[in-house]
Amino acid sequence: MARSDPLTRAAALLRDARRVLLLTSAGMSADSNIPTFRDKDGYWRNFPPFRKKNLEAQDLASPWAFRNVLPHAWAFYEWRRRNASENQPHEGYHILNRWMAECFDESFIHTTNTDGLHLRSGCPTDRILEVHGSMWRLQCLDACTPRYWEEPGVPLCHLDTQTMKASNFPTCPNCRAIARPHILMFGDGEYTGHPEQERNFEVFLQRSVDLAILIGSSGAVPTNDHIAFQLMQAGGAVININPDKSANRIAGTEHFIQQTSLNALIALDQQAFS
Ligand SMILES: [Zn+2]
Repeated sequence: MARSDPLTRAAALLRDARRVLLLTSAGMSADSNIPTFRDKDGYWRNFPPFRKKNLEAQDLASPWAFRNVLPHAWAFYEWRRRNASENQPHEGYHILNRWMAECFDESFIHTTNTDGLHLRSGCPTDRILEVHGSMWRLQCLDACTPRYWEEPGVPLCHLDTQTMKASNFPTCPNCRAIARPHILMFGDGEYTGHPEQERNFEVFLQRSVDLAILIGSSGAVPTNDHIAFQLMQAGGAVININPDKSANRIAGTEHFIQQTSLNALIALDQQAFS
């Protein structure tokens, strides 16, 4: 008998799955036009003033930048907040939400994305860990308290796109220091984390997971790949969705679907549930 194709086999796994972990990364957001800044040329093209000063994305996404080049650091995040607010969660987000509500016994989203698109698409607030934080929450730059707060306003700062400098920065309501995004940045010892989301994820992992779906993970930040690999070691199945074949290097699953997130989720949904 001929072996069925990866999509057909993945759809069968999906139909039978009861406890499911959804591991989403940059490729999920990319289909909603959220840039990742892993592509250095694209980054320099978007932000010529940063090129002149040789400020790379990982330089700006750091507590160092908020202390030393504050107008540029906030400009980078203000630009990204505006970009995210102008774009919409694509159909793939709604497909995942429907699967969570109707198809599995229990499920959870573990995302490395900070654009907040899962929550905006209406996923249950107690079923997600935004493990690298969210650009829609702020915290004190000096971490005077472990508190963070929601800040959905767009625009938030004034942004001069010619110089890529921001002004009128948000401040901490407790000590009046500068506020920064509630995001785990590079070289960041002050990110205060999200204890409630973290606790919900811990509780979810207390019982075995029979399927993980790894979506759009980049080799540069393999947080989700390692979780997928560990679940496979524990006897779970992993479906890996990525247009780039090398993205299956860590998980190494036989259920690899070489497509973009949006296309693969639509195809899986049709094959498994219609
Ligand atoms: Zn403070």
